[in-house]
Amino acid sequence: MILIFLGPPGSGKGTQAKRLSAEHGWPHLSTGDMLRTAISIGSRVGLEAKSFIDQGALVPDSVVINLIAERISTMDCAHGFILDGFPRNIAQAHALDAMLGSRGRSIGRVVLFEITEPFLIKRLSGRRTCSGCNTMYHIEASPPKREEVCDLCGKALIHRSDDQPEVIHKRLEIYSKETEPLAGFYRIEGKLQSIDATLSPLEVSQQLSILLAEERSEL
Ligand code: AMP
Repeated sequence: MILIFLGPPGSGKGTQAKRLSAEHGWPHLSTGDMLRTAISIGSRVGLEAKSFIDQGALVPDSVVINLIAERISTMDCAHGFILDGFPRNIAQAHALDAMLGSRGRSIGRVVLFEITEPFLIKRLSGRRTCSGCNTMYHIEASPPKREEVCDLCGKALIHRSDDQPEVIHKRLEIYSKETEPLAGFYRIEGKLQSIDATLSPLEVSQQLSILLAEERSEL
């Protein structure tokens, strides 16, 4: 199944996508992770993306559309994948429809992670991300066993430059202006379902399992 996780930064999309990916074998395609990897290896895409990410702005559409087009052509995406952080505006949504259509494929379900701003600010400002495997922690809600070290791969945890308070506000502003309209776009197509992302990760994952079970029984 092809799933899109739609929601503001900090709404828990990445955490849930990783869990579902491990459970079903659908690759988790996070454009944010792809861009951060590109920056860390110093590739051309990374150099192009860095200043946009640091400011909390969107990276140009052509860059992320090419990344996704390349990634979904690989064999491991043949039975489905989870998109996290893409599409982020209407132009990217149209590009996605075109690339899937040309391969005889289509989106199965779009899941909207609904959450309010005070929750997001608390989550993002306490968030720490593993510099090696991108696992997320929260200094209060889900701290690592050893301070600032990833439980899974032992690499250092970082406080992302775009998770700093002034950049968080810019990212949330861009989300409401550019990305939130996608909810209406996919609702009209009959693909949208919402979940309450203010709940705990376990409760959100239970909601997702119910939603996917319903989806499969309709197929
Ligand atoms: P994320 O990890 O999804 O919060 O993404 C981090 C940053 O990467 C965003 O603030 C953007 O600068 C950039 N980014 C990720 N995905 C996209 C996208 N689909 N379109 C444009 N920029 C993106």
